[in-house]
Parts: sequence; structure tokens; C-alpha cells
Amino acid sequence: MQAVMKSSNRASVVIVGGGVTGLSAAWWLAREGIDVLVVEASLIGFGASGRNGGGCSHHHSPLFVEEQRLWPMMDELLGYPTEYRPDRISIDLTEHQIALDEKVVAEAAYYGLRVDRLDPQQVRDLVPFAGDNVLAGYYYHFGGHANPHRTLQAYAWALKNLGGRVLEHTPVLGIERQGERVTGVRTPQGLISCDHLVIAAGPYTGELAAQVGVDIPLVTARAEMIVTEPLPLLEVGGVDGNGLYGRQTLRGNLAYGGGPHEWVELADLRGTRAQSTPLQCNIARRLAELFPKVAHKRVIRSWAGFIENTPDGRPVIDRPAALDNLTVATMSGVGFGLSPASGHAIRDLVVDGTCSFTDLSTFSLSRFAALEPDWPAIQGWMPLPVPQA
Ligand SMILES: Cc1cc2nc3c(=O)[nH]c(=O)nc-3n(C[C@H](O)[C@H](O)[C@H](O)COP(=O)(O)OP(=O)(O)OC[C@H]3O[C@@H](n4cnc5c(N)ncnc54)[C@H](O)[C@@H]3O)c2cc1C
Repeated sequence: MQAVMKSSNRASVVIVGGGVTGLSAAWWLAREGIDVLVVEASLIGFGASGRNGGGCSHHHSPLFVEEQRLWPMMDELLGYPTEYRPDRISIDLTEHQIALDEKVVAEAAYYGLRVDRLDPQQVRDLVPFAGDNVLAGYYYHFGGHANPHRTLQAYAWALKNLGGRVLEHTPVLGIERQGERVTGVRTPQGLISCDHLVIAAGPYTGELAAQVGVDIPLVTARAEMIVTEPLPLLEVGGVDGNGLYGRQTLRGNLAYGGGPHEWVELADLRGTRAQSTPLQCNIARRLAELFPKVAHKRVIRSWAGFIENTPDGRPVIDRPAALDNLTVATMSGVGFGLSPASGHAIRDLVVDGTCSFTDLSTFSLSRFAALEPDWPAIQGWMPLPVPQA
């Protein structure tokens, strides 16, 4: 792919979506001198990428090894801080939670990764916010967490330093196609032509891909997070447990989220509240159970975000067979942590047509070839009726 003279109405690669997936892919492409333009409907990170828990531990993913290889290097590679911190601790308050952690231990063993089982006192020594209700803990010597906003900014700045471009406040309204090739995207500012199109538009990826006849089965869920007042810094800031995931910020705040998630119609998304519901009280209660020694600390912020889900909950990163020059990427609930690796994989698909470092077949669209049309109903992933005023 040739670098071309930059103009506002064309780029060699156009990427729809300025979340971590689109920005990471753009950065990987720009590193090779490819003229890349990210087109974002709102501000970068306006989607799930700016609203997530910052977890970087996806041991069930084919991108896991690359995720773990890259995160410790990202600050240096990008040239800006992501606030990445290694390792995670999981605290169990019930036998069921222990059983779930033991499964992770078995999976970690497959990769030869170290996990230390902790007794309750060891947990309290490492996490002084924990209480007498701890049954067990696990210290994972892999994974970690990073600051989503810092990371987004780091991708965007690093991209721009390499000559890549980001166009904010520019929704892609349509995709132009000639035969088996995508030729560009339509925006309110006019047509932007391209040699290759990447759609990484979060929940809207399916709707956009459908315009060129590519079917991506997706339903969207609403998820919430809360943030507490600052607390003394923990040795390991990524502590999960009691059905919650989260991290401690460098300022000391605890930022935590957890289910249950609420299914939402895509058509209702823009009108659906992005602020919290009573679920924030449920998350706060479970956080107080997880960290009883600091249960008196106040919740100072909360928000909601939207996560798209495929039928098997796994991402899609693929080049649909029907078109010569289209790559689609939708990351489900795991896209933040995987972003260094997903960007690398997208770079490989765009430039080389195949991923150089892992087998992406479990992320292919062909796995849904025999899907029942009413799969969301079969799985019970249906939005509740909207209450009438
Ligand atoms: C509460 C919550 C907690 C989470 N916790 C974690 C976690 O701890 N670890 C983890 O790995 N993942 C987590 N996730 C999931 C993670 O945030 C997402 O998988 C990831 O951010 C997806 O990034 P993305 O770039 O693919 O999509 P998005 O962040 O959704 O970005 C897509 C972008 O496309 C833009 N867009 C959409 N349509 C158009 C259009 N027509 N034209 C132009 N632009 C368009 C949107 O405005 C948006 O900015 C969490 C998500 C939520 C909501």
C-alpha cells in the first residue's frame, strides 16, 4: 500500500471509529508510513473505550500472548503514558468464586504463567481494604490495567506524530462500493475515498457493515461503573472480586463495574441514558462487601457505556470474503485490554491479508454461518420493553 499525498477527501486507509480498536489499528498502520485517517462520529473515546474498567487480562483470547507481550512496552512504543500497571489480584468471598478462579489457574498453567494462591491473611496484607469475609485470593503474575483515557490519548498523539489523521465530529453516513470493492465513505462533509476501509465502530459496526452486505450478528448491552473518593495506593491496583472488575487510579480512586448488564436496541442507543441507574447502588454494595475496611468512602462519580456482543461473546476481526478491501473489527467486552494486539492484527489483515502472530479463526465471521435468525431471543438477550410515561 503506497503512501499518498494527503487530502481531506481521501486516505489510503480509512478507519471508522475513534475508539481504542480504531486508533490502535491506525497507529500500527501509520508506523509503516501508510496514510491513515480515523473518522469518528463524536470525540475519540466517546464509546466504550472512554468508559471501561481498564483491565488488560484476556487469557481466553487468541490475542492474549500478544496482549501480554505488548502492554509493558506500550508507554515506550507510543511515547506517552498509558498508566499501565502489571499483575492482578482476585479476592474470593464464596466457594463459587474460588471455583471460577481455579479455572483461571488451570488456563494460566496452559500458558506457563505464574499464579500464587493466597490465604485470607495474605490477601489482607496485600489489599488492606479487604476484611474478615475473605475466603481466598489469587495473585496473577500476568495481566494488569491501564488508564483508558490516557491510553486513548496516547494512541491518538502517537498516530498524529506519525502523520496519521483523526477527524472528529464526523459520522460516517454511508459506504460507497463498486463491485467487490469499497471505494469510500459518505460523511456530512462529503465523500472520503480510500483503498481500504476498516470498520471499528463498536455497537454500530454491524449496522455499517450491513450497508455493503456483510452480516455481523451483534446485540448491545449497557454496563455501568462507579468511582470512589481517593484511597491510599495499593501495591497492586488491579483487584477483582465479588463479581466486580476494576482498578485503582493513580490518584487513589477505585473505579469499578460489574453486571448485570441491560440489553438495549441499537436504534434506542442514542436516546438511552449514558448515566447511571440504581445498578450503581448494587455495584457500590458489592464493592463495600469486597472492601469492608473502606466501605465508608463515598461514590463520587458513575457512568454507563455500551458493549456490543456477538452470539459467542467473542470479538470479530476479519476480512469478509465478499469484498476485496474491507476489514471489520468488533471487540465485545474485551476490547480495551486487547487493543495493542487487536490493532496489530488489523494491521496484518489490511496489509498482508492474514495475521502474522496468531490464528484468528475463532474471530472469523464464518463461525456464524449457521446462526438462527432469532438468536438473541434464543439466548434471552432481549431488551426489556421501554416503560411508557
Ligand atoms: C463499563 C464498561 C467496562 C468495560 N471494562 C473493560 C475492561 O476492563 N477491559 C476491557 O478490555 N474491556 C472492557 N470493556 C470493553 C471495552 O471498553 C470495549 O471492548 C472497547 O472499548 C471497544 O473499543 P472499540 O474501539 O472497538 O469500540 P468503541 O469504543 O465503541 O468505539 C467505537 C467508536 O466508533 C464511533 N462510531 C460509531 N458509529 C460511527 C459512525 N457511523 N461514524 C463514525 N464513527 C462512528 C463511536 O462514536 C465510537 O467512538 C468495558 C466496556 C464498558 C462499557
